[in-house]
Amino acid sequence: MKKTLLILSISLIISACGSSKNIDLKSPVLNNAGQNTAIEMPNASSVQIALDVEYLASDELKGRDTGSEGIEKAAIYLSERFSDLGILPYQGSYMDHFKVEEIEAFNVVAMIPGTDKDLMNEIVVIGAHYDHIGMAPEANVDADVAVDSIANGANDNATGTATVLAIAANLKKLNFNKRTIVFALFSAEEKGLLGSKHLAQVMKKEGADVVAMINFEMTGIPMLNRPYITYITGHDRSNMATVFNTENKDLVVTGKLDQAAAFKLFMRSDNYPFYQEFNVPSHTFSTFDFTNFAHYHKVGDEVSLVNINHMTQVIDALMPGVFKVVNGDKLKLTALITE
Ligand SMILES: [Zn+2]
Repeated sequence: MKKTLLILSISLIISACGSSKNIDLKSPVLNNAGQNTAIEMPNASSVQIALDVEYLASDELKGRDTGSEGIEKAAIYLSERFSDLGILPYQGSYMDHFKVEEIEAFNVVAMIPGTDKDLMNEIVVIGAHYDHIGMAPEANVDADVAVDSIANGANDNATGTATVLAIAANLKKLNFNKRTIVFALFSAEEKGLLGSKHLAQVMKKEGADVVAMINFEMTGIPMLNRPYITYITGHDRSNMATVFNTENKDLVVTGKLDQAAAFKLFMRSDNYPFYQEFNVPSHTFSTFDFTNFAHYHKVGDEVSLVNINHMTQVIDALMPGVFKVVNGDKLKLTALITE
């Protein structure tokens, strides 16, 4: 673990030197005072990303199983992170309680209210699950790396959770979102998407006008030899991938991974309940491509394998697209669905 921290610290110093990026605006953007303004996307803090991933994946949290003491500690940490960022709780409390059979479970949910009178009632949900599988069953202990039986869940999904926090920090700093943004960190994903199902159903009952859902899973390890830096599940179901790639002129932000369709990944993460309840563009961004990570749901999913520079690059690459989704034309489902 100590060696890990040292490597992380060194990579952080290197990555902290990035420059911020001017978004290329096709048309003038009006700020909330009605003035033309150029919007500069902030860079994510790799130091903060590393701190978040390290804490969530630490042995102290014992794999963040739903109902465990470890996940409760994680939830308290995440609420405090939102609070420190000055981001409000959603519906009066960061904790969105539900039950998994007799077990108490809670999503952590925060919001930044929209400011445009015509768009503020529209909601963009940005999410990731923060739970994991706890202690690994014997069969899942990878003999080459096992020093204990804690499935730390660093890549799955401390990385997605830290990504949501970094995007939340950026959006709070920008203070420019016409639509309302709800940041949702889900529990009980590993038990069958139960946290996201609960929140999507609650929001549906409340009459919330969710217009898009952007989800993150396993963004800690880069893919090799692919012409895009992330892939998106359900690629062909909406124009989300096109928007993210159009908004960033520097690189191909996201692409289509054939295995995502083969394994029906669109239906296997927390984007899916929002698609079911609201029938709007809802997708998961990931960089786990079935070839670059051998420790899925095993004790070897440790923070030492997570590439913080890669995570930071992904977040910075996605920001122009995120900004567009919360301020621009509504995303559209496509008629042609091939995944
Ligand atoms: Zn996951």
